Amino acid sequence: MTGALPSHARVVVIGGGIAGCSVAYHLTKLGWRDVLLLERRDISCGTTWHAAGLVGQLRSTHNLTRLAKYGADLYERLEAETGQATGFRRPGSVSVARTAERMHELKRLASMARCFGVEVDVITPGEAGRRWPLMRIDDLVGALWLPRDGRTNPIDTTLALAKGARQGGAILLENTPVTVIRVSQGRVVGVSTPAGEVACEVVVDCAGMWAREVGRMAGVSVPLHASEHFYIVTEPLAGVASDLPVLRDTDGYIYVREEVGGLLMGGFEPVAKPWGMTGIPADFAFSLLPEDWEHFHVLMEQAVIRIPALETAPVRRHVNGPESFTPDGRYLLGEAPECRNFFVAAGFNSIGIASGAGAGKAVAEWLIGGEPPMDLWDVDIRRMAPFQDNPRYLYDRTKEMVGAAYAVHWPFQQPVTGRGLRRSVLYDRLAARGACFGVVLGWERANWYATPGMEPIYRYSYGRQNWFPCAAAEHRAVREAVGLFDQSSFCKLRLEGPDALAVLQRLCANDVDVPRGRIVYTQMLNERGGIEADLTVTRLAAEVFVLVTATAAATHDADWIRRHLGDARAVLTDVTSGEAVLGVMGPRSRALLARLTDADLSSAAFPFLTSRQIGLASAPVRAARITYVGELGWELYVPTEFAVGVYDALVAAGEDLGLHHAGYHAMDSLRIEKAYRSWGHDLGGEDTPLEAGLGFAVRPDKTMPFLGREALLTQREAPLRRRLVVFVVDDPEPLLYHDEPIWRDGALVGRITSGAYGHTIGRAIGLGYVEHADGVSDRFVETGRWEIEIACERTPARAQLTAPYDPKSLRVRA
Ligand SMILES: Cc1cc2nc3c(=O)[nH]c(=O)nc-3n(C[C@H](O)[C@H](O)[C@H](O)COP(=O)(O)OP(=O)(O)OC[C@H]3O[C@@H](n4cnc5c(N)ncnc54)[C@H](O)[C@@H]3O)c2cc1C
Repeated sequence: MTGALPSHARVVVIGGGIAGCSVAYHLTKLGWRDVLLLERRDISCGTTWHAAGLVGQLRSTHNLTRLAKYGADLYERLEAETGQATGFRRPGSVSVARTAERMHELKRLASMARCFGVEVDVITPGEAGRRWPLMRIDDLVGALWLPRDGRTNPIDTTLALAKGARQGGAILLENTPVTVIRVSQGRVVGVSTPAGEVACEVVVDCAGMWAREVGRMAGVSVPLHASEHFYIVTEPLAGVASDLPVLRDTDGYIYVREEVGGLLMGGFEPVAKPWGMTGIPADFAFSLLPEDWEHFHVLMEQAVIRIPALETAPVRRHVNGPESFTPDGRYLLGEAPECRNFFVAAGFNSIGIASGAGAGKAVAEWLIGGEPPMDLWDVDIRRMAPFQDNPRYLYDRTKEMVGAAYAVHWPFQQPVTGRGLRRSVLYDRLAARGACFGVVLGWERANWYATPGMEPIYRYSYGRQNWFPCAAAEHRAVREAVGLFDQSSFCKLRLEGPDALAVLQRLCANDVDVPRGRIVYTQMLNERGGIEADLTVTRLAAEVFVLVTATAAATHDADWIRRHLGDARAVLTDVTSGEAVLGVMGPRSRALLARLTDADLSSAAFPFLTSRQIGLASAPVRAARITYVGELGWELYVPTEFAVGVYDALVAAGEDLGLHHAGYHAMDSLRIEKAYRSWGHDLGGEDTPLEAGLGFAVRPDKTMPFLGREALLTQREAPLRRRLVVFVVDDPEPLLYHDEPIWRDGALVGRITSGAYGHTIGRAIGLGYVEHADGVSDRFVETGRWEIEIACERTPARAQLTAPYDPKSLRVRA
């Protein structure tokens, strides 16, 4: 594919692997003709050509499953559509479990996948053995059978997407590396290649393991790192039929499939070998890395346990090819926050063949529609922070993330690499108190506190983990006495300038034109009325506001506001590092603070949803009367250099009041009892405030119309077909996490978006959206037989629209 380089294209797609070809294919399918794909060497020559070609549909989250299912469906019809063979077929797949915990995880995934029409059956080891006769089954607990899982030829499938793109009008040029990305006023304006320059409006970085390098051309961080990645292919073996299903034995880190009468066996070893730290050789095309049998040994050792015939099978080929991995094991999609019209589809963590189709479709729709077409937060590049582009961090984390693909995905699991990077100034104090830290966007956060004699280390399981009683005690202290949270990682954004109010009035669904010192809880919406941000806005002065949002949403929310600033006279600054935040929460919080300040803390002088500058323990502190745990309490915003002193004073003064350190697990339990929503879980771009039960925070009649208002007004005219409902499980034993299906009178009507154990209520509580074509009325919720499916078993639950704890919020306003 050579040809003349056009001088202009609407979109330039960089990279002709499966991701780039899929983006070009989908753009043309959606009617864009002026699409140019530039590949530095040959189509598929990077990582795509040597992939094993597994097209599994079961993914760790519901959205990734949706995208992977789309891929299998597209590949099935692509040959007929384009005339290019793909080699796609559906031999099905068998995933086996060696332990009860793994089986539990597989069943949870099966429950979730069924919500999206993925066919999946739980089968016995015997049934698994009948489908895979060469497999040893005596040590297995059970298995899943996915009859519609597929496999494909990666090169041919990529060529079919490329052909489809060309048929749709795209130009694809090989041997044309992009060497420069031209940016003007923060926006992509063109690319340069050795063959000349191309002016363009949009760039899509699909450069695989080169994507980080390509990102840097535009000042964009694309945090990914290559790792060596292995499989072997044996000579033909007796008993291996061409329709043999794909086998996954994730406890043994391996997958196996038929290949020309033999077996192809590869895997995800627990400690990987990052590669390409000093750059990728310029001539790297259709290239492999040296064999490394010593490193491969850990996979081989496990493979012969499962398939004894592999012990003596002659190996025909040993493949070691590089693939890129990201810090959290999920790929990177969407428009980069650093540069307008610079999109990314890269970092596929070895599921790029299975996910390339869905990712390409999602990016194409995003680019054309200006917004993510569905909730893509799991893979949105804005879940990352710039520090994650650091090469040493990426190198360390990549060692872990390869193995993480097949490790059990324990609830609350924390990475072990790349830790200790962002620490609150109170870190050492909290560690001395027994804090066990988890990590969010690099921030070390106290998740729970070990009791004396206990190690602050997680013992993971799908049941009650070792910290369960610790979090219960922390929870109780907050409900009954007073708890101390270090909330320093919460993202604080300061918006100031003559137009700051106008910007916020346009972006916020609530009215933020309030007196100085008022706090407003609000959402920011997209055109469809979907929730792009869920935050509090505090007016500090006529032209100064501080916005507080979740740690994980920091990059995303700042980007959302910045992209809507236009030429407004307002400046947005992330001031998170400038202030530590101490949450003092519980019925005795007033008594505790009163010991350290002369300020009047009574409700008359300091009502709920207000903020005041006070002197506290000789430090200047902004106290905000707000809560995410449903009790009387204050968040103390303390200049970082004063924070240790304030903390020490609080601890000393709180002892006889029952002050208890509390972590994020307790906070989650407390907030779910109050049915406080969590953005990224219960709220996202596909959910409107009306559906989410947040209509109380919407002011359609405020003086300035806000983004998303029209969509809400239209939605208000008809009964809501989708609503967030609170579920309390009848049985005190089971736990809810997320993605559990919701059943009403035997019909599947939704799924849980976030779940936690409510220690006051004594039951697991879940929030989840329920759908019904005729509308989800109050009566619909109050009647009916409700059940939540956990690991393929249904358990009865009570459905309600109000919070299970203090629904009238009397305690908050005490
Ligand atoms: C051993 C192995 C087994 C695998 N098995 C599977 C599997 O069974 N199932 C599955 O789903 N996935 C599998 N994968 C993963 C899959 O191969 C990748 O996720 C996928 O191929 C990535 O596609 P991509 O388009 O992002 O990257 P690539 O295929 O690497 O494409 C990127 C392209 O960008 C080009 N490029 C780079 N820089 C520039 C530039 N400046 N200008 C122009 N072009 C540029 C490169 O030449 C390259 O062709 C496997 C990977 C490996 C290594």
